[in-house]
Amino acid sequence: MDWIHALRWLDVAWKIAAAIILIRFWIRTRFWFPTYVHWIAAVAFLIGLGMLVIMPADAPMNRGGWAGVNKTLLVLFFPAVVYVAFVFYGGQRAAYEARSDRIACPHCRASEGFRGTTCTACGQTIM
Ligand SMILES: [Zn+2]
Repeated sequence: MDWIHALRWLDVAWKIAAAIILIRFWIRTRFWFPTYVHWIAAVAFLIGLGMLVIMPADAPMNRGGWAGVNKTLLVLFFPAVVYVAFVFYGGQRAAYEARSDRIACPHCRASEGFRGTTCTACGQTIM
């Protein structure tokens, strides 16, 4: 069963690498959350706390040694949904497209991009 442990560590390493790449992309595109997103996430956090309060004591989540971790993840799940929805359904794309240092591709002039990136229209490097 050593290969299962190796696959788990590979999965963890992949997720950490993806998170680092995503955070670097956020920094590069100067991504930020508007204040109203934090307010929506706060309401979602309260909904998560409410779910914890109304959950019966004999729920499967409360069994086993990981009950505290499971409860924490349940409460954090709701604001995470808000942030993930904002990032992947508009906010990140809007921040990327709002950057003012985009230039037209000098080779084809068919698309815009940032210096050092690849043109989406012709595949040449934008300089
Ligand atoms: Zn081009």
